[in-house]
Amino acid sequence: MSAPTLTTAHTDLPTTGTDGTPRTTPTNPATTADPHPLHPTADFYGLFADLPEADREAWARARALADDALPAVNDAWEHADYRLDLVRRMGDLDLLTDGVPTPGSAPLSPLAAGLINMEVARIDGSLATVIAVQGGLTMRTLQLLGSAEQQAAWLVPLARAEKLGAFGLTEPLHGSDAVGLETSAVRDGDDWVLNGQKRWIGNGSVGDMTIIWARNEEGKVNGFIVSQDTPGYVAEAITGKVSLRGIPQALITLTDVRVPEAARLPGARSFRDVSRVLMATRAGIAWAALGHAIACYEAAVAHAEIRVQFGKPLASYQLIQDRLATMLGSLVTMQLHCRRIAELDAAGRLRPEQASMAKVQCTRLARTVAADARDLLGGSGILLENHVIRHLADLEALHTYEGTDSVQSLIVGRSITGIGAFA
Ligand SMILES: Cc1cc2nc3c(=O)[nH]c(=O)nc-3n(C[C@H](O)[C@H](O)[C@H](O)COP(=O)(O)OP(=O)(O)OC[C@H]3O[C@@H](n4cnc5c(N)ncnc54)[C@H](O)[C@@H]3O)c2cc1C
Repeated sequence: MSAPTLTTAHTDLPTTGTDGTPRTTPTNPATTADPHPLHPTADFYGLFADLPEADREAWARARALADDALPAVNDAWEHADYRLDLVRRMGDLDLLTDGVPTPGSAPLSPLAAGLINMEVARIDGSLATVIAVQGGLTMRTLQLLGSAEQQAAWLVPLARAEKLGAFGLTEPLHGSDAVGLETSAVRDGDDWVLNGQKRWIGNGSVGDMTIIWARNEEGKVNGFIVSQDTPGYVAEAITGKVSLRGIPQALITLTDVRVPEAARLPGARSFRDVSRVLMATRAGIAWAALGHAIACYEAAVAHAEIRVQFGKPLASYQLIQDRLATMLGSLVTMQLHCRRIAELDAAGRLRPEQASMAKVQCTRLARTVAADARDLLGGSGILLENHVIRHLADLEALHTYEGTDSVQSLIVGRSITGIGAFA
């Protein structure tokens, strides 16, 4: 798939806020035609200056999403509106695979997949979470653990967003200790009968299929492809959520859900197989955290240049400059983590604790960058129209999902000490 023509600048956003104050319109201030689309200072070490052409092309495809998405995402967030038209646009732009090899899709290096995660998160965390759920978790499960028939049936429609997939692991009583999951799978003739509950499942109430992780009668964890219209599958969107409001997560109740043996993933024999999928997706969360932080940093720089207090731009004050320098230092650290795990991944040498390290450090740093940017914008910082508060709120979910901050840190701790401290 070739890169789209990138010509449109983000000039369609209003230049003042609802209160008449200049808006910073900070996120993605450069044009989509810019061959190096970060804010001039945001790539301080030039880590993205000399990318291979194929990786740059993937980044440009992600950037093209901004033209449709940026004007829409704040409203979608405010009204908890899942913009399926934007998800389909992501399919058109071939942004959903997270690097899972798929017929008809562009092959992505780990760096290219990371850049897509980064750029889409820089636009919007809910849309980046679609990649994590659809490509990172669902398609990767099919790639690693599915049969040839299952892959042939699902990978292409999922990549194109013709179908939506979900990954049902977490349960009401088992989050960090998902290894203790209680959903049951009982063999009955040629079928399996599933009973249990799943919580926090992205696309679980609005998609076409959900991969349900369940324990068989021998106590082993198996995975099943369950069509969401199967009798006994009841899903309701979780409400009252103030992070990632642009994508719903579901509470799913499974009551005597019957699926054929052909729906069982042949490669999923124990929880270790689930862990292989989760490890592979954690790198993407590190990249997404970087994208959120870049958006917030760019907002802060733009606001500091525009906003005049005590007769001078904020940018002229020492405290402001120190704060911007600290934010930039955090960006550089995150960029180094991300580039290095992409290199390790490409070489087939990425270890689980390294993916955990990158996930923890990047989400922690992104949270501090977003909080600093929120403060630097003053009252404007809590207005959706200036984008920062959405990123700050969305980062709360990244802090927790795909392995919490604490548990991922304890995985690193276990690799240091040889002692498991969380189980
Ligand atoms: C927005 C969102 C989307 C999600 N999407 C999906 C999805 O698509 N599919 C899916 O299956 N799941 C999904 N999840 C679930 C997610 O993976 C879990 O929320 C996560 O694993 C944490 O589980 P929990 O929320 O139950 O928290 P808990 O496990 O109850 O943790 C609560 C706190 O205790 C800490 N803690 C837990 N155990 C220990 C320990 N041993 N030592 C020290 N501290 C500990 C945690 O770090 C955390 O701070 C999603 C979650 C969110 C919020």
